[in-house]
Amino acid sequence: MKKITIAIDGFSSCGKSTMAKDLAREIGYIYIDSGAMYRAVTLYCIEKGLFNDKKIDTEKLREEIANIHISFALDPATGRPRTQLNGTDVEDRIRTMEVSSRVSIIAAIDFVRTALVAQQQKMGKSKGIVMDGRDIGTTVFPDAELKIFVTASAEIRAERRYKELQEKGEKADFEEILANVKERDHIDQTRAVSPLRRAEDAILLDNSQLTIAEQKAWLIEQYRKAAEG
Ligand code: C5P
Repeated sequence: MKKITIAIDGFSSCGKSTMAKDLAREIGYIYIDSGAMYRAVTLYCIEKGLFNDKKIDTEKLREEIANIHISFALDPATGRPRTQLNGTDVEDRIRTMEVSSRVSIIAAIDFVRTALVAQQQKMGKSKGIVMDGRDIGTTVFPDAELKIFVTASAEIRAERRYKELQEKGEKADFEEILANVKERDHIDQTRAVSPLRRAEDAILLDNSQLTIAEQKAWLIEQYRKAAEG
């Protein structure tokens, strides 16, 4: 089977990361969570005081963007990658509501996208990679051999994120999460740079009613077809 590039795009909280991570582990590919990179830049901005409520000091960020280095380190216990910001593990801190409610603002800034897309393309140079995000099939890897576009209803996605936060013992308010999911959908789909959209050659997967096992079997099948073809 040939080594390919797999792009998984879709709406917030539709289980893209879980499915991409599992697939990568199953087939021995590298997994990159591009959303974690936008989240890490957002955390950097929060910690450096670049936000005034939800307004970002764009000029200051432009000066600092070259100092923001994001990488991934494998957690030996789980075998899963953990996001590093300038060498520090920020995996847990980038998943909070504080970051979720600001990340789409950061992701809409053109020079942030240019910088992160360049890093992502470098990571995928040798193929054998599964990357998930919003613009992977359209902008980062337009030539990917397998592109999947995942969706599910906003309510189901909010429910999943709610459970995820609860399991981690974090404060979770369903209505707040649902509003955040809808707000991010809106910003992601209407931004000027690389808006979230399905690439013409992406396969659509609505996983509202699928179990994780069903989804996994479906995904492996798509991979086989693409890698054998
Ligand atoms: O995937 P996740 O929900 O963690 O992504 C966080 C945010 O980062 C998204 O809401 C979106 O605004 C942005 N994003 C993006 N392009 C990507 C990945 C994420 O704009 N490739």
